[in-house]
Amino acid sequence: MSRAELVVGRADNPPLLPLGTLIGRELRGRIKDDNPFLKYGQAALAKKGEDYFLIKPDCQRIPGDPSTTFSVFAIFDGHNGVSAAIFTKENLLANVLSAIPPGVSRDEWLAALPRALVAGFVKTDIEFQQKGETSGTTVTFVVIDGWTITVASVGDSRCILDTQGGVVSLLTVDHRLEENEEERERVTASGGEVGRLNVFGGNEVGPLRCWPGGLCLSRSIGDPDVGEFIVPIPHVKQVKLSNAGGRLIIASDGIWDALSSDMAAKSCRGLPAELAAKLVVKDALRSRGLKDDTTCLVVDINPSDIPIIPSPPPPKKKQNFLNSILFGKKSLRSTNKASKLSAVGAVEELFEEGSAILAERLGKDIPDQKSGVIKCAVCQADQPLDDPSGNPGTFFSPPSKHWEGPFLCTTCRKKKDAMEGKRPSKSTAGTK
Ligand SMILES: [Zn+2]
Repeated sequence: MSRAELVVGRADNPPLLPLGTLIGRELRGRIKDDNPFLKYGQAALAKKGEDYFLIKPDCQRIPGDPSTTFSVFAIFDGHNGVSAAIFTKENLLANVLSAIPPGVSRDEWLAALPRALVAGFVKTDIEFQQKGETSGTTVTFVVIDGWTITVASVGDSRCILDTQGGVVSLLTVDHRLEENEEERERVTASGGEVGRLNVFGGNEVGPLRCWPGGLCLSRSIGDPDVGEFIVPIPHVKQVKLSNAGGRLIIASDGIWDALSSDMAAKSCRGLPAELAAKLVVKDALRSRGLKDDTTCLVVDINPSDIPIIPSPPPPKKKQNFLNSILFGKKSLRSTNKASKLSAVGAVEELFEEGSAILAERLGKDIPDQKSGVIKCAVCQADQPLDDPSGNPGTFFSPPSKHWEGPFLCTTCRKKKDAMEGKRPSKSTAGTK
């Protein structure tokens, strides 16, 4: 079996600990010395079977050039079926990469990545909705290139960073209507109704949901049967680690409804990644039982091949259990305000943007008009500059005037307007 086959096999069917360690060593050994070593592990327990994950440690910016290797780790927590989660797992990475100009340097590539992630998420959402299937999915999509980590997310599958100083920070935002006031205001302003489920003569139960559709999330990929104001536009955060390294824990809400970010990080410190992932899942189950799909990826970004044992010892399991009973589900989420990364000194914040307005996310570049053909900023389809159909609506502003936004094709323009509540919605507008 070749090295490449070993890696591919691993992504779908993770083997036990020793192989993961070996692969990590082999892979990183081929890369320049100033790159970190990655070690990773995964653990999951299914209740509904709607969690999917992606481990791709062997991507290359320039195919065939190992010095351009980057890695992708992602979790997709599906709801109302699995097809959106599967479709996103299979198509999102290619859609993101298609939005990055070819032949750029590593720095240019990293700078282009936040915008490409937005385009890739929206493109994937449009493509899935065109399939005419139901279901939706959260996405937490992590790209690691050297010491730079870029995280794009919709929904409530968190990614946390545990640095060597013992500071735990959140790299994602929870897009839950219950906990995110800004998102409630956006959804309401775009025409959605936010409220709880009514049962038994008007008694309200459960978390805040958005109507029509009744989804608890304010952002997702898929969900053709809810309002377009449930958008696929991700929160994106990009940070650069110091060469002291750090650990990422990426997990679905089955973990975060049971453990706070701090509890998850502390419970597995000092353990190798594969074992750490298993322990986090076990801890979540111990405090809450198997109430939901529970998936956890742990990625260690180390300066050398030797595992680092962070200084604080793991707390006693009994204490974790007690905390989870004392503070319960709600406080777990609400007490998890992101720590100030910059205060640590170990992490440099490069980029953070979470706006749901596409025009604020895709930049305002003036396209090269010499060729007579320009690309849609979302789906990358070539469009003739002078549309023979005479449809000036494909531009945010007419091209003859001052340029005020990215170029979008007719399909993506419709999507943009629908997400902002400016038009009824998708093809099945009557049900929205
Ligand atoms: Zn387009």
